[in-house]
Amino acid sequence: MAEETKEFTGASFNAYLTEEKRMMGVHCRSCGYMSAEPRPMCRSCHGQDMEWVQFSGKGRLSTFTCISIVTNAMGEKGYGRDNPCCAGIVTLEEGPRISARILGVDGNNPQDIKTEADVVLDLEDLDPEHPSLAFRPS
Ligand SMILES: [Zn+2]
Repeated sequence: MAEETKEFTGASFNAYLTEEKRMMGVHCRSCGYMSAEPRPMCRSCHGQDMEWVQFSGKGRLSTFTCISIVTNAMGEKGYGRDNPCCAGIVTLEEGPRISARILGVDGNNPQDIKTEADVVLDLEDLDPEHPSLAFRPS
C-alpha cells in the first residue's frame, strides 16, 4: 500500500471519509497509541512519528443518548421532538473511542437500544459539506 502522506488534521480525516470512503486514524510508531482524532503529535508519548492507519469501521456502542432538541441542520434531516436523534460513543475494534450519530435505532424507545451492541460505520448519507461519522447496528 502506498504511504499515506496527508497532513495529520481533521480536514484530512474528513477528506479520507468523503473522497475515499475510508475511516482513517493515526498510529504512533513509537509507543503504539492509536487515535481517531489525527494530530501530528502523539497524545501519549508526545512523539511525532505518526502514521495513518485505516480503521475497519467495526465497533461497539459503549454509551448513547437520544437528543430531541437538535440543531437546524439536524432538524432539516427530520430529527426533533418527534424523532430524537441518537448520538453515542463507539469503541472501535482497534481500540479508540469516538463520538458518532447512531442510525437505524428508534430514538423514541431508547430502552430498546443496547449498549455493547455491534455497530458498523455507515457512510450512506454522509454530507460532503459537513461530514460526520455515523454508525448503525450490524
Ligand atoms: Zn506515542
